[in-house]
Amino acid sequence: MKEFSTEALETMQSAVSLQPEQSFRANFDYPKKFPDNLQALETIAWNYYWSWAGGTDIFRELDPTLWEKCEQNPRLLLKNVEEIRLWQRSLDADYVAKVNRFALKMERYLGQEPQPSGRVTNENPAAYFCAEFGVHNSLPNYSGGLGILAGDHLKSASDLNVPLVAIGLLYRYGYFRQKIAHDGWQEERYYDNFDTELALKPVMGERGERVLISVKIRGRRVFAQGWLAEVGRIKLYLLDTNLPVNNEVDRLITGHLYGGDTETRIVQEKILGMGGVRFLRKLNYAPSVFHLNEGHSAFLTLELAREYLEANPEATFEEAVANVREQCVFTTHTPVEAGNDVFPIGTLCGCFSTDYIESLKLTPEQFFALGRTNPDDENEGFGMTPLALRMARSANGVSEKHGEVSRDLWLKMFPEGTKNEDVPITHITNGVHAPTWIAPTLKDIYEKHIGENWFETLRDGEAWRAAVERIPDAEIWNAHCRLKELLIAFIRYKTLVHDTGSHNTINEHSDTRQLFDPKLLTIGFARRVAAYKRWNLLMTDLERLLRLVDNSEHPVQFVFAGKAHPQDRVGKQLLQNLMRINHNSNWQNRAVFVEDYDQEVARYLVQGVDVWMNVPRRPLEASGTSGQKSAMNGGLNFSILDGWWIEGYNGTNGFSIGELNVGDDQAEIDFEDAESLYSVLEKEIVPDYYTKNEDGLPVNWIRRMKNALVTLTPQFSSDRMVRDYLEKIYC
Ligand SMILES: *Cc1c(COP(=O)(O)O)cnc(C)c1O
Repeated sequence: MKEFSTEALETMQSAVSLQPEQSFRANFDYPKKFPDNLQALETIAWNYYWSWAGGTDIFRELDPTLWEKCEQNPRLLLKNVEEIRLWQRSLDADYVAKVNRFALKMERYLGQEPQPSGRVTNENPAAYFCAEFGVHNSLPNYSGGLGILAGDHLKSASDLNVPLVAIGLLYRYGYFRQKIAHDGWQEERYYDNFDTELALKPVMGERGERVLISVKIRGRRVFAQGWLAEVGRIKLYLLDTNLPVNNEVDRLITGHLYGGDTETRIVQEKILGMGGVRFLRKLNYAPSVFHLNEGHSAFLTLELAREYLEANPEATFEEAVANVREQCVFTTHTPVEAGNDVFPIGTLCGCFSTDYIESLKLTPEQFFALGRTNPDDENEGFGMTPLALRMARSANGVSEKHGEVSRDLWLKMFPEGTKNEDVPITHITNGVHAPTWIAPTLKDIYEKHIGENWFETLRDGEAWRAAVERIPDAEIWNAHCRLKELLIAFIRYKTLVHDTGSHNTINEHSDTRQLFDPKLLTIGFARRVAAYKRWNLLMTDLERLLRLVDNSEHPVQFVFAGKAHPQDRVGKQLLQNLMRINHNSNWQNRAVFVEDYDQEVARYLVQGVDVWMNVPRRPLEASGTSGQKSAMNGGLNFSILDGWWIEGYNGTNGFSIGELNVGDDQAEIDFEDAESLYSVLEKEIVPDYYTKNEDGLPVNWIRRMKNALVTLTPQFSSDRMVRDYLEKIYC
């Protein structure tokens, strides 16, 4: 096949290996010799296993100040740590023992053989495709929920020893970093990701050459190299077009995550889907299942069809589709049509040549029809979700409600008269990786009372309940209070700014010593600034809100975080208004906005707040996962009954806002939800939180916390989620 000439590839490969200095990335070696007894630090830093298995302390203790400065990036830390510091640590027997104990634990963990299950075997693993992966904040290759979910999927697949390989893209500039200007306006900054500062290894062939694939784009052949990130036992390959052999424009294909125009997106998705399959083949993978996590990777189905037709020249496209469907499963994450990628046919034509379309034995019209809900409607663009639904044997939403909503949304693709329940879209509810999201202090308590493998007990709901019920209330409460103190210290550290401009804004203070009080009820609200998340619902009745904040005996304080899309002026306006509220109230001391919401900020927030609030517009929260993270730390969800919370809420493990089913009048719904929000806060949450027994313990509150820990941790862990995928979808 011309598209894939090995000769051309080899020429390019040698060209690449000859010109490393032309890459934006420079090679570097650690400029120092590591003490023999600390050599293991190097090994540990290369696998993200450290980030969830208790390795964080090892790096922090090496040099706490530098660790924060390097934004918890071990590779950067080891690159920059002073030699004298290394030698000081190497003479600290406790530290050395800790490092080597962890290295041994990691070696044992990595040494285990993957466990086959059904058609997912070592020879034929599952291949997991996603446009973003949020493994750890030191690999800034994600924008939000989808990426974090993908990262958690890999970690649970690793812990459960599932044979799985993952494919994504490496974005040179990642997603933007948020900075709020003095006037409260959001600004975006992009930084270069240097592979020499990330735990990424270039994927090399047998002769020491870089493994490259190519995809034809806009009439040119674009090359991509692969980087390997090791996520426990799972290999995550990230494709990257930033190679000297590509022209300047093509080098930037994998430049920004969700930053480009429509054409850039098509091209990125070609690299991810088609390039991803080619890359796996180059490495001799023969996956039994291709998991399309969201529609971005759906072009992979075309590549599988092309492969089939190449191997079976007599076959028809329909036969190829039957073969492809058998291999592919699809997860949709969007509950609204506008949230799905749909490409104008004209733009699509620029990215797929007629030759290519012919190689699939299709006419252009037949090709375009693959991406339309109504194949005959020439006005429709090319949607990635219709393509994925046609080409996968299984499709699922990410919560029970979202399954139902997705069936409604795509009903029109099925014969007239099809009922909702007959649309072949099921659901697997999202979950989060417990060892990543549960605070170390709480993990210590679990280790003490349940054992070192507490996260295995977690896989059995009843055993978990029995074990957690045995933990004394005071221990849970004290751990929570310490985590809240830590959160407040973090908030003060993050918002302390020397030059705060002329306005008071809740994201910057010249003195943070009076900011927040660990004794006060603390509510967290952190999420994307998107209209459906209804950031302004809380502000509906500002006076009523400020009465809660200013209450002399039982005040409430709020911590906010979240990014607005760079082009979303309305969102930015909303953030600016929030920043500037100043009504002679305590708002400026009892509300904060922490800039640049990422995994690190999320960790502090979900681990330290008393209450995690979420007020999405129904039914637009496909699942939501941040509330699950908070629940695992004993935070009480205070949320609209939507997404995962419909399944999680049982009346005693958190709080609900508004009704389950509502009408169509959006203004009326907003009004009623706001009313419910204030009244639950005033009548239930505030009184419950501040009612303490003679020992000073809020026993009712702790009961609710324990209910949350007991009921929600197992059900919404990504171990449960990955096992569901394995047993119900991949099988
Ligand atoms: C968990 C997480 C999300 C997703 O949370 P939602 O509940 O879906 O809003 C987004 N961003 C970060 C940094 C997270 O950790």
